[in-house]
Amino acid sequence: MLFSEVADVFNRLEGTSSRLEMASILSEFFRTLDPEPLRNIVYLSQGKLHPDFYAQELGMADKLVLRSVAFVSGTSEDSMSDLWKKEGDPGKIAEILIKNKKGQMSLFAEELTLDTVLKNLTLIENSSGRDSQDDKMKYLSQMLRYSNPIEARYICRIVTGRMRVGAGSMTILDALSDAFGTKDDRPDIERAFNITCDLGLVAETLAKGGVDSVKEMKVTVANPIKVMLAERLPSIPLILDRMGGICAMEFKYDGIRVQAHIDKDSVKLYSRRLEDMTSNFPDIAEELRKRCKAEKAIIEGECVAVDPKTGSMLPFQAVTHRRKKHGMDKAVEEYPVKIFMFDILLSDDTDMTVFSFEERRSKLSDTFDLSDKVQLTEMEVVDTPEKGEEFFSKALSMKCEGIMAKDPGSIYRAGSRGFLWIKYKKDYEESLTDSFDLVVVGAFHGRGKRAGKYGALLMAVFDDEMGKYRTVCKLGTGFDDAFLAGLPDMLDEYLSKDRPGTVDAQMMPDVWFLPTVVLEVVAAEISLSPIHTAALGIVKEDAGLGLRFPRFTGRVRDDKGPEECTTVNEVIEMYELQNREKN
Ligand code: ATP
Repeated sequence: MLFSEVADVFNRLEGTSSRLEMASILSEFFRTLDPEPLRNIVYLSQGKLHPDFYAQELGMADKLVLRSVAFVSGTSEDSMSDLWKKEGDPGKIAEILIKNKKGQMSLFAEELTLDTVLKNLTLIENSSGRDSQDDKMKYLSQMLRYSNPIEARYICRIVTGRMRVGAGSMTILDALSDAFGTKDDRPDIERAFNITCDLGLVAETLAKGGVDSVKEMKVTVANPIKVMLAERLPSIPLILDRMGGICAMEFKYDGIRVQAHIDKDSVKLYSRRLEDMTSNFPDIAEELRKRCKAEKAIIEGECVAVDPKTGSMLPFQAVTHRRKKHGMDKAVEEYPVKIFMFDILLSDDTDMTVFSFEERRSKLSDTFDLSDKVQLTEMEVVDTPEKGEEFFSKALSMKCEGIMAKDPGSIYRAGSRGFLWIKYKKDYEESLTDSFDLVVVGAFHGRGKRAGKYGALLMAVFDDEMGKYRTVCKLGTGFDDAFLAGLPDMLDEYLSKDRPGTVDAQMMPDVWFLPTVVLEVVAAEISLSPIHTAALGIVKEDAGLGLRFPRFTGRVRDDKGPEECTTVNEVIEMYELQNREKN
């Protein structure tokens, strides 16, 4: 198969911002593909060679890519640097230069195949050691030599990690169900994705065996499962009401969520955004391995730092010392951690996600020999508001954030946020809303004391139905000097010359960013906004929702990807809750 066919589809996708149209372009294309190329093209459309949880090292530095482009197109360093200043996108520059060059070349150059692109990308990914930079440039140049301008654009974007044609996972799932099933099959196809986190695998399975094969897909060790999430309600009586008068209440620990995949002697820990965190919690991985009585298991728990002297739980900031890339040995010693397990998703060969909470809890407790480091979450069955309040106070006295109420009869709904789990935090007593996890989409240059730095940020929530980021506030409070000084380091690699296609905004910042970095923000209130685009036209015609007096809490949510930030629907829900409480 020729790579130009794939690049043409990417080009068409980039030309539209309509999710419906993207899904239709993709589904038409998917129908024509064999299972294996389909799987690879699904990964490529997201700028990858593998599923999200695979730690991939494709990211070539812009400098190296520009050097390869200059070499293949015979462009001088000066012209390159002018173009870089103007375009700021190696893909666009490659496209322009290859177009100029092709004008002067013979028409009979060899055409680039999908196989060659996959092979060379794999070689780039696997290049390591002293000569790796030269090797990467060599493999890239080999592709660029035979590329047409559009192919060059996408190859350079893929190798630099900038491949964002706008088709998110949900759009690809729409396209797959349209190509290989019907609308009614969409939930089964989405479930398969939620329990494997592997869109390529789902696509290949569908193309090979149809929807029936996809329905048979089960949770497996080494395929992380999308986490189940909680809704929020503003009081314990309301929670009990919603749960039918009885619930299982657990402490809500303030740590880092991990999903542990245990297979005999090997254990892998994943964060909720699918990063491999085994090297951050080697002590927990080892203890889980020792304490697990099953051959295979997938469990979830919260890793919490404890005071080495007293053994009491420490606030979240302490466990973040374990998120470092280097110096882990020292951090393991200085910041001891315990895991409080709250769920089991696989036990030997049984997919536990379809069992009730009660059954899962009992299996979890049967599967492990508990120890000081490996414990179960504190849990109590609660059937009166008084018992609930008492349990909540106990949770706070143990330095927990609050409680999680769980419906005893509920299954584990991978990837969904719903009222089967409801959280209630101490913060809710002080303000009407929960904290928000917002994505940075732009920045404003600072003035006065902040001159020469970024002074404020444009923040957005995620519209998961449309795959768009919609703005909700301009954030300029809560930053200390060190944080402000570090902002360019944190954000500039995501600079975008224009407003990214996935961002919907009316407010114009001085610079735009690809939505990537997530910050935790609190606010006094959610109010109607004439300028912000979150929930625009939903609560009131011609108005969106915005946050009043937003303040950064100091917590960078690097455990969350942009698609896991607060959603538009959550903001609407919190707005309605807030108004109900006020009236
Ligand atoms: P938050 O920012 O409040 O932690 P979140 O958006 O990360 O919220 P939620 O679904 O709102 O996720 O809350 C669930 C989170 O709470 C889990 O991701 C997990 O990290 C943490 N947690 C702590 N204790 C428990 C528990 N007993 N059961 C489930 N999750 C727990």
